[in-house]
Amino acid sequence: ATPTALLVGTGRGSQLGILIRGPQVLEETRRIDTIVLDKTGTVTTGHMTLLDVIAAPGEDAGEVGRLAAAAESGSEHPIARAISAAAVGPHAVESFQSHSGYGVQAIVDGRVVLAGRSSWLREQWGLDTESTLTTAQDAAENDGKTVIAVAWDGNVRGLAVVGDVLKPGSVVAVTEFRKLGLRPVLLTGDNAGAAQLIGAAAGIADIRSEVTPEGKLNVIRELQAEGRTVAMVGDGVNDAAALAAADLGIAMGTGTDAAIAAADITVMRDDLGAAADALRLSRRTFGIIK
Ligand code: ADP
Ligand code: MG
Repeated sequence: ATPTALLVGTGRGSQLGILIRGPQVLEETRRIDTIVLDKTGTVTTGHMTLLDVIAAPGEDAGEVGRLAAAAESGSEHPIARAISAAAVGPHAVESFQSHSGYGVQAIVDGRVVLAGRSSWLREQWGLDTESTLTTAQDAAENDGKTVIAVAWDGNVRGLAVVGDVLKPGSVVAVTEFRKLGLRPVLLTGDNAGAAQLIGAAAGIADIRSEVTPEGKLNVIRELQAEGRTVAMVGDGVNDAAALAAADLGIAMGTGTDAAIAAADITVMRDDLGAAADALRLSRRTFGIIK
């Protein structure tokens, strides 16, 4: 994947809403045998819903929800949008920082609030999650939910539970990838339970979960080291390095600028099927399939 300055639409491709960086990209599509799919916003809608807020003993769930919503209000991440949609009342938010693939940090009404992966809170901030919360987190994750730990003033105060669903076209798209001779791999920073649920629903058996943004790049490199030629489809800031390292990077046009800038092909339709169309069209251009 060599980034060049211009996105060019090629005839039929631009009609279908497929932007291809240059003619050399079409040739690359011939050799692809593996397709790595980001989960959130690529296979799933990325319109996550806040399902539950769970407070640690002695904490107030309303307060956990309010401070998490305020801390997340500066982030565009699907998780952040779900949590901040529940925001009520004005809060003074300062010093917002987003840590792609991990969580956010902000000062809300003078308190240092963190919202993110519990492993990040533990490893980066030395914050342990209390045992009843851990039990609740395990149960929600086994049920396929995404769980965010919320901490302030040095303690984990509660959990926000969010859920996502498949895009309507994802199951058919995975079937199309197989027909094109591609082996699908689901790649996500999310927990194993959420990844399994979506993988099973989409018909993908090879699932790599709890992968950091740097880890996503390494998964691409490992697959390449096994001799595979890899396409990657993604939408997030956290996918950009992997999209650039893949033999063919495909960005969802609804995704972030970082993903689009790193990709060889951008599909304007918010449907995984558009990525399958792009590959089929490119191969047909080269007369590989009719
Ligand atoms: P994906 O690979 O599914 O697109 P990300 O790499 O963006 O996921 O995020 C991986 C994990 O990092 C999330 O499941 C969540 O636990 C945590 N995370 C990322 N961004 C945020 C955020 N804005 N707020 C809370 N947690 C976050
Ligand atoms: Mg994503």
